[in-house]
Amino acid sequence: MFKTFLIKYGEIGIKGKNRYLFEQALVDQINFALSRVEGNFHTWREQGRIYIDAEGLYDFDETVEALQRVFGIVGICPVMKVEDHGLEELGNEVIDYLAEVYQMEGKTFKVMTRRARKSYPVESMEVNAYLGGRILDAFPGASVDVHHPELMIHVEIREKIYIYSKIIPGPGGMPVGTNGKAMLLLSGGIDSPVAGYMISKRGVTLEATYFHAPPYTSERAKQKVVDLARLVARYSGPIRLHVVNFTDIQLYIYDQCPHDELTIIMRRYMMKIAEHFAGEDHCHALVTGESIGQVASQTMQSLAATNEVCTMPVFRPLIAFDKQDIVDIAEKIGTYETSIQPYEDCCTIFVAKHPVTKPNLNAIKRSEQKLTEKIDELVKTAIETTEVLEIQ
Ligand code: ATP
Ligand code: MG
Repeated sequence: MFKTFLIKYGEIGIKGKNRYLFEQALVDQINFALSRVEGNFHTWREQGRIYIDAEGLYDFDETVEALQRVFGIVGICPVMKVEDHGLEELGNEVIDYLAEVYQMEGKTFKVMTRRARKSYPVESMEVNAYLGGRILDAFPGASVDVHHPELMIHVEIREKIYIYSKIIPGPGGMPVGTNGKAMLLLSGGIDSPVAGYMISKRGVTLEATYFHAPPYTSERAKQKVVDLARLVARYSGPIRLHVVNFTDIQLYIYDQCPHDELTIIMRRYMMKIAEHFAGEDHCHALVTGESIGQVASQTMQSLAATNEVCTMPVFRPLIAFDKQDIVDIAEKIGTYETSIQPYEDCCTIFVAKHPVTKPNLNAIKRSEQKLTEKIDELVKTAIETTEVLEIQ
């Protein structure tokens, strides 16, 4: 019965030129999301509204699910579209629609007509009154409430006539592409995919960097990160994923530096390399899944020590989240099941039994002095041999 969707989006703060960009980005993201849904869709804009027409057969639930992943959408209204055969026939259509979609007994309602086609011979107020009367006749248990109706029945008169009353909630946020680009440090864990999702929800395009350590980490561990990137891309749109071979850098640090400082020093090199790719690809920030106190490398002192190598801002959207709250989001967005697959991570392979929890920055820098001989060359090689995957 629904062949069209009306898309509602937040309008606060979008005026003038920004409004145009916001709507264009939203249309692009809608088209991207629907390109994976079986069926033919046509998206169009008019007077601050976005409509999607479904041509031919399509799966309603699948379409709604895809739209619920498009940031910037606040509400999805399934629309019944009917031919204009005069007011009486419209009354019949509205009554059939209500009978099919609702239990009208005891419901309060209001009819809201919008005459987008100005040549339509009857004024909106009159259409409201006429349809209201027809509905009361058809459903004696229903009543009108103009202030707080349970059911707002929208009737839009265009070439055809659009009837809708349901608003399915969208994800909110801003359309990806309206707020620049950031580089996500994506591991195979639970946290970083959630962090990427959250930043992307603010309209930020994502790229990602993953560090692996073959043969200590397997091809399967890498595949898991590719899978996670693909799951995040269902929301964020395509992600350029940089896969960095970190083995030689890790082995060198392991040979030269105190083992309790390994994780911190490794983290600092990860940030440096991720920032290198971020700069190359015009990103404005780095994103990690860190959260205060979660592990030794995420104490306040450790975060400060890691942060110190970066010149770009580092966004840590999960910084104040409890693990369970992060897990809840991971489940909601569908990354959790993949994240908990048990594959080795490069950080856990060389991890010390008792890592420092309060690293002293001067001590760390002194330890890094021991790397001067080879580290620049190793970083250069890691960058040059990085594999770039376009994740759709
Ligand atoms: P996650 O669940 O995201 O892996 P975690 O709880 O395992 O996080 P850490 O391993 O300490 O925490 O990692 C902290 C953050 O550092 C991650 O959220 C991620 O942004 C980044 N990170 C860690 N390991 C890697 C890796 N191998 N490649 C890319 N980024 C990484
Ligand atoms: Mg991890």
